[in-house]
Amino acid sequence: MHQNLVDRNDLSDDQRQHALSELGLDFLKAGLLDRAEAVFLKLRDTRLNDFALKNLLDIYQQEKDWRKAIEIAEALPHEGVLWEKEVSNFHCELASADIANSRFDDALGSITRALEMNRKSVRASMLLGDLHAARGDDQGALDAWKRVESQNPVYLALVAERLMDAYRRLGQLEQGMQLLRSYLEQYASLDLLDALFQWELQKEGPQAAYLLVRDELRRNPTLLGLDKLLEAALLTAPVAQRNDIELVKGLVHGHTRRVARYRCDACGFKARQFYWRCPACGGWETYPPRRTEEFDLSP
Ligand SMILES: [Zn+2]
Repeated sequence: MHQNLVDRNDLSDDQRQHALSELGLDFLKAGLLDRAEAVFLKLRDTRLNDFALKNLLDIYQQEKDWRKAIEIAEALPHEGVLWEKEVSNFHCELASADIANSRFDDALGSITRALEMNRKSVRASMLLGDLHAARGDDQGALDAWKRVESQNPVYLALVAERLMDAYRRLGQLEQGMQLLRSYLEQYASLDLLDALFQWELQKEGPQAAYLLVRDELRRNPTLLGLDKLLEAALLTAPVAQRNDIELVKGLVHGHTRRVARYRCDACGFKARQFYWRCPACGGWETYPPRRTEEFDLSP
């Protein structure tokens, strides 16, 4: 219907633009992104320019065309709404693809721009570390990942495994464990505990791993922590007690499986894995990097 309207010759500019905008939305709703793009491009530099830009930004994000998304976001009016977080993430998406394809210089360029847009971008620091690690510079990687602490320590859980792998490659496991212990002390998190538990188990054995989890559970009583404690207890308990512990662990684990999710702050969507962009609402950095249950029972 809107197509017919657009094709008529007797419309004023305003009426034609309005019909075009409706047509673009029809295409967008139908998932016909190419056709929607063509329509909204026609509306650029008209009185519906801002409306067109916002829809183009949506389209290019759906298509993962990050270069075009950057161009549109930079053209958007900046009063009131800031697009730094979004644009920074678009550069991070480019960097991530560049690292995967060993285009290291391009990746560095994108990371630099991501940090220019958002100095506090944890994701950019993580990618900078990934880039150094991919180039075989583990010390450089460690320096980049450690910056996360000053940017936003809640995200340290996301770099714990990376840090430990780099320390292991450098033959400095003990230093890595010291660092993780101090992080855990200051910024309690189940994923940090998880990472440290595995290394403690490997390096110091089941008893040390058990004590680590027990102390942490006292400090921070959560069901997920209890689940971990039972896992550790199974490793250290005398054979005669193992069946009982197994039983309790099964019960607790059945429950924690349901609550151990990441939850989007913007729309409430829950997921087992961490996302930089919510798959449900499309928001960027709307997932706190902590499982939901950690919030619910922590003192
Ligand atoms: Zn969401």
